[in-house]
Amino acid sequence: MKVAILSESPADEAAVRVLVDCAVGVRTETVALSLRSRGWPAVRNVLPAVLRTVHYHTDALHLVVVADANHSTCHNAELGLDACAAAGCRLCELRTLAAKVCRELRPVAGKPAVRAAIGLAVPSIEAWWHWNQRLEVTERVWREGRQKNRDPYSRNQLKTAVYGTDRPPLALEMDRMVAEAHRIAGCLDSFAQSFPDGFGSFLAELRQWRAPI
Ligand SMILES: [Zn+2]
Repeated sequence: MKVAILSESPADEAAVRVLVDCAVGVRTETVALSLRSRGWPAVRNVLPAVLRTVHYHTDALHLVVVADANHSTCHNAELGLDACAAAGCRLCELRTLAAKVCRELRPVAGKPAVRAAIGLAVPSIEAWWHWNQRLEVTERVWREGRQKNRDPYSRNQLKTAVYGTDRPPLALEMDRMVAEAHRIAGCLDSFAQSFPDGFGSFLAELRQWRAPI
């Protein structure tokens, strides 16, 4: 199974693939995406082109997208997709965009339409890698902090907790992320309970890919 991954850095991509492989139950193959810029808003801006590339120009059927929430509006399922996206939720913004692009794709002979699964790390991907460690890091803790106008932890604090420094070299970042991803891969359901919006729904989507199309 070939799965293209669009995320904010090569290290994110390597670690996210560990989670994807565990969720779909096979070792997925990479699909090279030539991206010059990374981070948000690059992920959002290139998403339409990446979806079209995967659909028309590769033999992959699946695209995974993972971005950081940073200080964007927290997801609110009660609002519905469009209103939540309009309120500034990155998860719903990416989902709305992906759905729109997928609706516009023309069929390719002998190949089903590309499917996208979207995850959002709140507030940053280091929150995932620090899950169940020293700091209590969950979507609920982050949301409650934001409601009181006080971040419960900063991105730099999370980086230091994961890498031992807030400016890790790429090799260290990659090693630590992949190691933590392997730790988490063994307990994806508990992990999803701590990150139900940005990871739980993403996990459910990935598990649907197990079924043959
Ligand atoms: Zn939302």
